Amino acid sequence: MDALQIGLSSPDITKAEIDAVVEVLKGRHLSLGPKGPEFESAFRRYLGVDHAIAVSSGTAGLHCCLMGLNIGPGDEVITTPFSFIASSNAILMVGAKPVFVDIESTALNLDAEKVEKAITSKTKAILGVEAFGNPCGMTELAKVAQRHELPLIEDSCEGLGSSYKKRKVGTFGRCGVFGFYPNKQITTGEGGMIVTNDERLANLCRSYRNQGRDPGSGGGWLAHQRLGYNYRMSDINAAIGIVQMQRLDEIVEKRQRVAHDYITHLLDNTHIILPTIDADTVMSWFVFVVRLSDAFTGEDRDFLLNYLKRNGIGCSNYFPPIHLQPFYAEQFGYKRGDFPVTEYVSDRTVALPFHNNLTALEIETVIHHLNHGIELTLHRKDA
Ligand SMILES: *Cc1c(COP(=O)(O)O)cnc(C)c1O
Repeated sequence: MDALQIGLSSPDITKAEIDAVVEVLKGRHLSLGPKGPEFESAFRRYLGVDHAIAVSSGTAGLHCCLMGLNIGPGDEVITTPFSFIASSNAILMVGAKPVFVDIESTALNLDAEKVEKAITSKTKAILGVEAFGNPCGMTELAKVAQRHELPLIEDSCEGLGSSYKKRKVGTFGRCGVFGFYPNKQITTGEGGMIVTNDERLANLCRSYRNQGRDPGSGGGWLAHQRLGYNYRMSDINAAIGIVQMQRLDEIVEKRQRVAHDYITHLLDNTHIILPTIDADTVMSWFVFVVRLSDAFTGEDRDFLLNYLKRNGIGCSNYFPPIHLQPFYAEQFGYKRGDFPVTEYVSDRTVALPFHNNLTALEIETVIHHLNHGIELTLHRKDA
């Protein structure tokens, strides 16, 4: 085994983030101090929205939005099976049913036409996701939601910094939710942000994150108006986020540079399908995921991933279909064949190492092992 290790992802933390954390630790407010509101106003300014509510994770943010839109048992929410599981789990957390609709095969986002056909009297919202940060199709999805007077909940956890038809990710729906786990474009360690122009929804989310207290009601610390949670973000986390937001343009550019390098290397590779970026899209890359061509099966892909890992190259199968996760399949009777585009794509994805400071030499090393791994996979088939 090669000693070399190139990780799948890595946060980009500078002295400025470290200093900001130390400053909080030396002060009196580790939580509910000035850093939370400062982080929130950075988001309001960046997206041009009325409200930003910092929470403890992207999942917590989605949960708050669904509660705030009064979605619960007996309701259905249309969503994508091709996503990280949290987008769909949030629907289960309020007792509603996720109704999956297949994706389109280029941007890998919900197919707006199929969504429109799947709407029934039980549908209470559409929960869309920008897969891998690609916002292509969000305008069309927002139009379907509007036509049917349904709120669009935008799970923007993978798309901070992307825009589509000059509109920024997070502003397509009734509300948008970002996540700041260390592999995202910006991180706070753990954390999330809800953004919306709906004041009522914003105030409900502020209440849910803080044990059901009503902000500004004067009721005090031990007055609880509704069932709430502790979904607060500490000032320690928010301090990291403030610096990361100041660096967002630089971070997006660095990631574009790395993605462009990969694309240059892989452009002529007939075994690989590169991500499709529409002309109307400004892409803030979350991860760099290529797909293997029709000649490969899911087993071939897994063989290739194992080969890469054995050679010190971080990689992953983003994302296995949510409807085939055992507890979804069991509870709702979903099975292989239900969403053919998602399943076909999922079987062939290869997420390559991707972060802000990946060097040209590291990228060349990844490409070298990828090409060799593909050759071995093809020979394995011949044998
Ligand atoms: C990362 C992610 C989330 C969850 O964010 P957490 O902060 O980890 O809870 C939700 N949805 C999608 C699509 C994600 O990629």
